[in-house]
Amino acid sequence: MKVAIIERKRFGGTCVNNGCIPTKTLIASARTAHVARRAGDYGVTIPGPIAVDMEKVKARKDALVRQSSEGVKKWLKTTQNLTVIEGHARFAEAYQVRVGDELLEADKIFINVGGRASIPPLRGIDQVAYLDNSTMMNVDFLPEHLIIIGGSYVGVEFAQMYRRFGSEVTVVERGSQLCKREDEDVSENVKTILEGEGIRIRLGAECIGFEKRDEKVSVQVECNSGDKYVIGSHTLLAVSRVPNTDDLGLEHAGIEVDKHGYIQVDDQLRSNVPGIYALGDCNGRGAFTHTAYNDYEIVAANLLDGDHRRVSDRITAYALYIDPPLGRAGMTEAEVRKSGRKALIAKRLMTQVGRAREKGETDGFMKILVDADTKKILGASLLGIECDEVIHSLLDVMYANAPYTVIQRAMHIHPTVTELIPTMLEELKPLE
Ligand SMILES: Cc1cc2nc3c(=O)[nH]c(=O)nc-3n(C[C@H](O)[C@H](O)[C@H](O)COP(=O)(O)OP(=O)(O)OC[C@H]3O[C@@H](n4cnc5c(N)ncnc54)[C@H](O)[C@@H]3O)c2cc1C
Repeated sequence: MKVAIIERKRFGGTCVNNGCIPTKTLIASARTAHVARRAGDYGVTIPGPIAVDMEKVKARKDALVRQSSEGVKKWLKTTQNLTVIEGHARFAEAYQVRVGDELLEADKIFINVGGRASIPPLRGIDQVAYLDNSTMMNVDFLPEHLIIIGGSYVGVEFAQMYRRFGSEVTVVERGSQLCKREDEDVSENVKTILEGEGIRIRLGAECIGFEKRDEKVSVQVECNSGDKYVIGSHTLLAVSRVPNTDDLGLEHAGIEVDKHGYIQVDDQLRSNVPGIYALGDCNGRGAFTHTAYNDYEIVAANLLDGDHRRVSDRITAYALYIDPPLGRAGMTEAEVRKSGRKALIAKRLMTQVGRAREKGETDGFMKILVDADTKKILGASLLGIECDEVIHSLLDVMYANAPYTVIQRAMHIHPTVTELIPTMLEELKPLE
């Protein structure tokens, strides 16, 4: 096929430039500082205090991002039958897209425009300087006190990262728990881990407002009681994200969006206009790189291979990259309870996992839920060292549509964290 790809900014999009790759690279630097500070616990002596060189931390991150982004660009530009156009794409009508002076026409169009941080109309926000996940990528200094508005996935990853770099950090969250999609016991444990490292967390902050105080920012967190204000040197807004569909001329093509701007698609990612598809963050069906990639696989399988893959075939899976990480698959305990089905549950603290004890990293717990009748695994929340990897042993059995007894009888390698999964499945009890 003759193909054109249009990119208005940086090749690789959010994941490569402002999302997964840079944050996980920075998290690796932060973890190194953390482990170095704990070296004494392992009998390793590091003379003198541990210092973090933020310029070098950023340079390491920039090098990795540059390599990935340029790699993508080079690969695209050398692909046969593919024309790379740099500029902002806008629909002129259904099968016509304008980029600058150029008008492109095609019978198949794939919209994969992603999203960006949204800036909510918080009181006083226009009076102060603030950072978002993109501008955070330019920081090559240590903020004295970073106030993070939003205690969800992006917010808590930055919180732990900057605390480990050496900043004072306060997380201000409107809701009553961190990462509100998670079960309460998971959110509570994440909070304990973060507070254990000296991060201050203000939940239920109903009255968020901003005020400039000389060179600092004052953030109002309480309406009536307690400490009403937190004063910090820098503010990061990690509140929510919006799809990049508002400046795409969708109205000229008659492409339907929902009230949040997400393009409406069916189970095969087709929009309401035949031949026009929406993939990735802009369709509201996922908010991860692996969901965006899976979207591509679904569309390609249907269009090219006659293989009728569907979005509804996939199982929820993601990780939260605090340290230790949270690996998630399938339903939460709250969702299982709400579904009303008969279920079994097993829970194990990481202090009861040999590998975690040997590594001296015993924060967290693992929880698995199983359908009592079908014996199928319904979901798991694994918060602990290596759990972003361990979760896949459950996920793959879920994809195989096999009962939990398959994994229960598997011989796993000792000593690993994953070896405890069969043991846990021996200990399933009715969910009460
Ligand atoms: C801080 C942070 C950390 C994250 N960490 C993870 C993680 O660890 N794991 C994970 O799975 N996900 C993570 N994510 C989410 C992940 O980055 C996104 O889900 C993923 O990038 C979505 O891919 P996409 O292809 O839908 O869109 P994007 O990657 O956003 O790509 C869209 C592209 O379209 C371009 N574009 C937009 N509009 C136009 C237009 N009109 N014309 C031309 N070009 C246009 C943009 O410039 C961009 O390059 C993170 C996100 C953030 C913000």
